[in-house]
Amino acid sequence: METHGERSLWLRQALGEPEPDAGRGFEGHAQADVCIIGGGFTGLWTALELKRRAPETEVILVEADLCGAGASGRNGGFALTWWAHLEHLVSLCGPEAAVALAQRAEQAVRSIGAFCAERGIDDAFTMNGWVWAATNPAQVGAWERTLALLDRLDAHPYRALTRDELTALTGSDQHLDGMLEPVSAAVQPARLARELLRAVREAGVQVHERSQVQAIEHGPRTRVVLEHGAVTAEQVVLAVNAWAARIPEIGAGLVVVASDIIATEAVPERLADAGIRTGVCISDGRRLVNYYHATAEGRIVFGKGGGTLAYNHRITASFDHPGRREAGIRSQLLRTYPSLWDVPIAAGWSGPIDYSLSGLPFFVRLTQAPAVIACAGFSGDGVGPSRLAGEILAELVADGGTAGLPQALRSVPRRPMPPEPIRYLGGRLVRSAIARKELSEDLGRRPRAADRLLAALDPTGYEYKGPKGAAGPVTPGS
Ligand SMILES: Cc1cc2nc3c(=O)[nH]c(=O)nc-3n(C[C@H](O)[C@H](O)[C@H](O)COP(=O)(O)OP(=O)(O)OC[C@H]3O[C@@H](n4cnc5c(N)ncnc54)[C@H](O)[C@@H]3O)c2cc1C
Repeated sequence: METHGERSLWLRQALGEPEPDAGRGFEGHAQADVCIIGGGFTGLWTALELKRRAPETEVILVEADLCGAGASGRNGGFALTWWAHLEHLVSLCGPEAAVALAQRAEQAVRSIGAFCAERGIDDAFTMNGWVWAATNPAQVGAWERTLALLDRLDAHPYRALTRDELTALTGSDQHLDGMLEPVSAAVQPARLARELLRAVREAGVQVHERSQVQAIEHGPRTRVVLEHGAVTAEQVVLAVNAWAARIPEIGAGLVVVASDIIATEAVPERLADAGIRTGVCISDGRRLVNYYHATAEGRIVFGKGGGTLAYNHRITASFDHPGRREAGIRSQLLRTYPSLWDVPIAAGWSGPIDYSLSGLPFFVRLTQAPAVIACAGFSGDGVGPSRLAGEILAELVADGGTAGLPQALRSVPRRPMPPEPIRYLGGRLVRSAIARKELSEDLGRRPRAADRLLAALDPTGYEYKGPKGAAGPVTPGS
């Protein structure tokens, strides 16, 4: 993987102009207790947690580009919990483990807030909650099954909103119905990633940016081979997100799809005039989810899931920018906030989502190289959960056990998938059908039967069907 072609607005803001000199990358040979591959949230939280548990652990982290240049510096900035995934967690792990994991994921969001406060970047974290909204009649009630399950398990993370409350909270009367989850935050993700990098370095971790791993050689000690040298380590953590899909064993459980984002110019007075509050995260209930929030500086950042599909798990330059999708995303933005019709779009960017076939991340030791622990599959919902993943990975490295994880999260999810090019072509067909179905729903028309049938074949979504055929928990990047 080369340097990512386009930087997100978040990353440009966090890096400043010109970008800091990241040096020439790793050169030579080094030994460490643990080598972490990937400098996104997962790798950085893992490094910090390893050092917190045992400061003497020698940790080297290598990142192909700059830390935060992957999904961690490009996302929608929603730090969410796993309560919306409860139904799914229960089906994989049983009710007790599911609730425990969801509670840990909620704690992860609070811990990110504590980190930002400790490190003096509190303005990069605003906990004004997440609104799970319906923006057309077909989406109304998408949360009902989750709510019923929560009730049975005596957990109450959501509050139902009246239509007036919804309008006041979101600044848009396009939301027909919705739930509020107060423990969810809007973050400036690239600032969080770059601050994590500083914290990790201060903790004594050697971080080498612009250091792309070429191969991992398994032996009595594992060799991580880079362009100009190698790191030999007792254990290796592979935290490369969607890029891990190229490893067949991991890729078997993943579908890689882009999510696309646009950001308006900063117009704080226009947002104030329109009654749009900052820092409230909103997603709607469509499969090609719309997710948006107003930032503290007065921009609307509006994202949409279901962009470019990876052929054979390859992440190409088309994963860096929405391209022709930008106009469609802008029209969704204007449908939500029509009064902003004349506000220019200042930036657009994209990134790959590591959809897992189970909808949740998995933590596995590679069969051929058990000293390598890989984590992938955040499925567009990794900002908050990657904090928890860091704890889990550090525990797996330190104790070598199961970190108390249910088996379902310790194996690659499997489902029969056709080979390429059928998978790619089929995926495009399904995605187009979902788009047509959701357009019909927006227009108040009944989707065509063929589109409904094709849409139901979505391998990353069909277990989530809520009542009335609406997709269930679809959170930011998904
Ligand atoms: C457009 C978009 C919107 C999203 N919105 C949200 C959201 O609002 N909320 C949410 O919770 N989640 C969201 N997500 C998902 C979230 O960003 C990710 O789940 C999370 O950041 C994953 O972090 P990570 O560290 O696992 O991956 P990454 O941040 O992608 O880090 C992986 C790193 O590995 C590096 N790498 C890859 N290959 C190599 C190699 N060979 N050698 C060395 N390094 C390598 C990459 O350069 C990258 O920096 C979104 C994702 C995208 C793309």
